[in-house]
Amino acid sequence: MTAPRALVTGAAGQDGSYLTERLLAEGYAVHAIVRATDRGAMRETGQMSIHDVDLTDHARVRDVVLDVAPHEVYNLGGISSVAQSWSDPVGTAEVSGVAVVSLLQACLDLQNREGRPVRLLQASSAEIFGEPTDEPQTEATPVRPVSPYGAAKAFAHHAVHVFRGHGLEASTAILYNHESPRRPTTFVTRKITSTVASIAATGTGELRLGNLDARRDWGWAPDYVDAMVLAARHGRPDDYVIATGQAHSVRDFVATAFAHVGIDDWQEHVVVDPELFRPADPTVLVGDPSHARSTLGWAPTHDFGSLVRAMVDHDLALLGAS
Ligand code: GDP
Repeated sequence: MTAPRALVTGAAGQDGSYLTERLLAEGYAVHAIVRATDRGAMRETGQMSIHDVDLTDHARVRDVVLDVAPHEVYNLGGISSVAQSWSDPVGTAEVSGVAVVSLLQACLDLQNREGRPVRLLQASSAEIFGEPTDEPQTEATPVRPVSPYGAAKAFAHHAVHVFRGHGLEASTAILYNHESPRRPTTFVTRKITSTVASIAATGTGELRLGNLDARRDWGWAPDYVDAMVLAARHGRPDDYVIATGQAHSVRDFVATAFAHVGIDDWQEHVVVDPELFRPADPTVLVGDPSHARSTLGWAPTHDFGSLVRAMVDHDLALLGAS
C-alpha cells in the first residue's frame, strides 16, 4: 500500500514544524512548500520532499499540487505576524489572501481529476474578527478585520467557503494565538520568555514592551496542530474555532514569567515603549472552542500557567541556566 500524501505550506514555521513531524511519524509522504529563503530555517525532520516555491507563484504551486496529488493539504503559509502586515499590506494580501484562492482552485481541479476528496485545511485566524463585540467568539461571529493581516485572512476564509460550496472538502481552523518554544521573538510571548530567562540568568537587562493591557487567548501550538489534523480528516468540511476560552493580558504573561524565575518586582525590569503600540490592535480576543470539542473531540492540554512555564524553562535551558 502506498503511503498517503500530505502537502504542507509554511512548513518552515512553528506550526509547520510540529505538523510535518507528526505526519512523518504517522507514515505520510510529506511534501513541503517552502520559500527558498526559509529553507535554512527548516528543522531536520527526516524524509520530506521540499519544493522551493513562493506561494505567490501560482502556476508553480498549481504544478506541485497536480504533480504530488496529495490526499491532505495544510495551508499554513503566509505572513504570520500582524505587526509585519502593517509594513507590507499588499504583500500580505497576495500571500495570505490571493494565493489561497489559487491553491483552492488547484485542489478542486485535483479532486475532480482524481475522483476522490482532497482534504484541505486552511489555517484561518482570530484576527478575521477584528475588534469583536461578542465574547467569546464562535464560528458565527461576524468577520470584521482591523488589520491588513486580518483582511487577507478574512478573504481566504470566505474563499474556502466558496470552494466548499463547489464540492471541495475544505475546512478552516480559526486559530487563536498559539505559542511554543519555537515561536520567534517577534511575538510577544517568546520575546517575554527569552528576555525573562536572560534577566534571570544574568541579573541584568530590560524588557521593552508595547500595550500591556492587550488580552489574548494563548494556547499551546502542538495542541492546535492536532486540531488542524482532526478537522482535515473529519470527513465533513466545516469551520472550527480553536482556542482555550481563557484570555490573559500581556501584563499577566509578564508577571507569570517573572514569577516562575523568582522575580516578584517585575515592574523594575519592564519599560513600556509607545513605539511598540500598534496602529490598531484588537484588545480582547477569546474563542469558544465548543464546536471543536463536541465535533472533533478536541481539547487543549496546556493551560496558561503551564504554557508560560514551559516556554520560560525552554529559554532557561537554551542559556544553560536551568
Ligand atoms: P498577535 O496577536 O498575532 O499580533 O501576536 P503578538 O504576540 O505579536 O502580539 C500579541 C499582543 O501583544 C498584541 O496585542 C501586541 O500589541 C501586544 N504587545 C505588547 N508589547 C508587544 C511587543 O513588544 N511585541 C509584540 N509582538 N507584541 C506586543
